[in-house]
Amino acid sequence: MPPKKKDDGAKAAPALLGRIGTNLKIGIVGLPNVGKSTFFNVLTKSAATAENFPFCTIDPNESRVPVPDARYDFLVQHYQPASKVPAFLNVVDIAGLVKGAHEGKGLGNAFLSNISACDAIFHVIRAFSDEEVVHVEGDVDPQRDLSIIHDELRLKDIEYLNKHMDNIERAVLRGGDKSKKHEYDCLKKVREALEDKKWVRNLSFDAKEIDVLNMHLFITAKPVIYLVNLSEKDYIRKKNKFLVKIKEWIDTNDPGAMVILFSGQFETNLLDLQSDEEREAYMKEHNAQSALEKIIVNGYKTLGLIYFFTGGKDEVKAWTIQRGTKAPQAAGRIHTDMEKGFIMAETMAYADFKEAGSEAACKAAGKYKQKGREYVVEDGDILYIKFNAGAGLTAKKK
Ligand code: GDP
Repeated sequence: MPPKKKDDGAKAAPALLGRIGTNLKIGIVGLPNVGKSTFFNVLTKSAATAENFPFCTIDPNESRVPVPDARYDFLVQHYQPASKVPAFLNVVDIAGLVKGAHEGKGLGNAFLSNISACDAIFHVIRAFSDEEVVHVEGDVDPQRDLSIIHDELRLKDIEYLNKHMDNIERAVLRGGDKSKKHEYDCLKKVREALEDKKWVRNLSFDAKEIDVLNMHLFITAKPVIYLVNLSEKDYIRKKNKFLVKIKEWIDTNDPGAMVILFSGQFETNLLDLQSDEEREAYMKEHNAQSALEKIIVNGYKTLGLIYFFTGGKDEVKAWTIQRGTKAPQAAGRIHTDMEKGFIMAETMAYADFKEAGSEAACKAAGKYKQKGREYVVEDGDILYIKFNAGAGLTAKKK
């Protein structure tokens, strides 16, 4: 048997569109000068400030941002562990796209391949006016900007398909290769939809088609969260003249997508303050909250990721898994031997643990459960894995 890949566990999940794994990333995409780097910097800086994690920056354009979670905070408070590890969202700052990027304008192709390496998109839209900050298209017009980015990404997928379908088309139509017929039909469906201005993510596919799509990882298959960058003044007064138009555009072109309002300026000002008390006072004074928590939590969710906890005096840790992962594969995240020798997972739902106040009280209340191989781990479960340590060793010797 070939050795198992580290992320194989997630294969137990139902067919999902996108890369399989737990080390997924979200990329910040938008035109130049819309506030992408400002947003990236506040995310990185807030992570470093809040958690005192000096290792948040992976490289100048990539950061791991701790996912804020009251449940994790409670567990840390409860166990007072020697080591604590939250879940992280990997965020990549991608340099601005311009019109024509799919044909290589600007640094088009390099940027687009950076987007391909991500699994979801934060699409930053500029809705702030500032004479000092040049707009690449001349004026502030979020609807036009949304269309430019949307089209560039879609055209890039078409270009990719045109390149890759040639061979398949020849094999199926002229060579009569039946083995590629399904892939060909599926890709044809995708190309027609893209030419009809639709995004892959907004079409429906069966599990077999999703397998084909996941061999190609189209840019327009990635989920998008729209981040509207407002001036501080507009963010505080919760009003902006472009909001209705932005909503109209999203309802028409990406119905149901999530839109979050933020202000690069407001977040920067907050982070420039020295202490949490000052930040609280600033937010109170302006009757406005930071949007970062909402953005991080939803960014993480949009990647299809959840986490379970392990807790004890030594360590409280959040373990990232894909939604739908079963207990043995979740255990495999901790150690491959735990998956190989899996016996059972003892679980407490976070809410039960919090209500009971301790493991012992949870047990007494009958809320400490033993689950087998088919158990699908839920977000926030606290797990204790029982496994046969010998099983891993035997398997390794083979
Ligand atoms: P990027 O090219 O999209 O990464 O844009 P940047 O983050 O570099 O921002 C471009 C310029 O816009 C910088 O001078 C920022 O200070 C400014 N900027 C970013 N967010 C805001 C905002 O909310 N309000 C105002 N007035 N300026 C902003």
